Amino acid sequence: MLSELKARLKAESCEEYLFQLFEKIEKSSLNAFTTLAKESALKEARRFDKNPGRGLLAGVPIAIKGSISTKGIETNCSSRILCGYIPPYDAHVIERLKAEGAIIMGKTNMDEFAMGTSTETSCFGPTKNPWDRACVPGGSSGGSAAVVAAGEAPCALGSDTGGSVRCPASFCGIVGLKPTYGLVSRYGLVAYANSLEQIGPLTHTVEDTALLMETISGHDERDSTSAEGARHSYLPGLEDGVAGLKIGIPKEYFGEGVNKDVEKAVWEAIATLESLGASWQEISLPHTRYALAAYYVIAMSEASSNLARFDGLRYGLRQGEDKDWHTTFSEIRAKGFGPEVKRRIMLGTYALSAGYYGRYYLKALQVRTLIKEDFLCAFKDVDLLASPTMPIPAFKIGERINDPLSLYMADVFTVPINLAGVPAISVPCGFAGHLPVGLQLIGPHFGEATVLRTAQAFESATPFHEAQPEVI
Ligand code: GLN
Repeated sequence: MLSELKARLKAESCEEYLFQLFEKIEKSSLNAFTTLAKESALKEARRFDKNPGRGLLAGVPIAIKGSISTKGIETNCSSRILCGYIPPYDAHVIERLKAEGAIIMGKTNMDEFAMGTSTETSCFGPTKNPWDRACVPGGSSGGSAAVVAAGEAPCALGSDTGGSVRCPASFCGIVGLKPTYGLVSRYGLVAYANSLEQIGPLTHTVEDTALLMETISGHDERDSTSAEGARHSYLPGLEDGVAGLKIGIPKEYFGEGVNKDVEKAVWEAIATLESLGASWQEISLPHTRYALAAYYVIAMSEASSNLARFDGLRYGLRQGEDKDWHTTFSEIRAKGFGPEVKRRIMLGTYALSAGYYGRYYLKALQVRTLIKEDFLCAFKDVDLLASPTMPIPAFKIGERINDPLSLYMADVFTVPINLAGVPAISVPCGFAGHLPVGLQLIGPHFGEATVLRTAQAFESATPFHEAQPEVI
């Protein structure tokens, strides 16, 4: 827990603690960090040891996903096209972390440009799941989740466009939150699909997630979609319990295609919440079956437009001699992007092209509205929804990578949440064999306090967050 770590860092030496973490990372075979900021981090730790300061995260080391800009530290989105790119500025969340005294340890592996569910599309090769090295850690923030689960970093940031914080949290047995769209500034996050994504914490406990949310949330005028209003506080009220809370169980999120052990663990979790004083009822989110198709059309369309800026001329990969503009641009992009990114640029460009725009992109936007309405309607009757985060536990490395559709299908319970813009957390709720299972708790827009308080009540009543993989 970060509150205990903070006390320990003050009593002992932050430099020593950080030094031990780096030793562990250097011996690790998880392939979870892509860049280490060892020198600057140890310097910060020495400064902390001389003068601890009072920040919310004073002295706390943190790992950052490779798509979040960090001044002076390579930010390559695990893509060949951005290898060597060192941002001249910090993302808003990094400014906030530094202002509260956190220490940036380095950057973590991810699916290339956050496009994936397994961290296998990284140009650095897959990260391994600390619970079973033959398995994927989930994605796309797989590096961030693996380092926390394996004890290589006490906490991390990821980003979630269609599940990329919650999926790896679920597969690695830790806590991960996708905030309400607009709650955390995206300034400095390399864009994949702007209308869907949010930066979110990956931690061991719900309290740690609340602490990180308290640090990174809040208005930022440099992100035009950033929500107005005062900064929220998530720690007070965290222990208020779930007595009287009404939980909706979306019937479309159970049954066919859901692993039996996953389903069992989630129903047991619902029973636990009931025993703590909440009540539950079945509800329906009738447009769920259209969510995956709508998500992938929208995400790929936005990606094809966002990724047009990577031409190797202003930053990143630049190889060979310059030819005419079209040839140079094509050669750089052919070498710089991996197959999944190319697939999405092509499909997204197709969906946006004249003649098909109405049939695909516009249609997907209409479906998105229906999905959002499903959630708004459900939240008239209940305070919160509960479901599995992922329909399956972590799968084997290599098992699905050549079958993109089967990978996309794994996102079936996470993407509707991004389409609707509501918040959702994944908390460990048991095991399928030796692999962790995540419970997803979904709240109404800006309902983070309710989501966190419910997750906290569940965590306090269960031992799953204490389980640790036998690694290293
Ligand atoms: N797996 C989803 C995708 O590939 C979600 C990824 C993410 O949230 N960045 O689009």
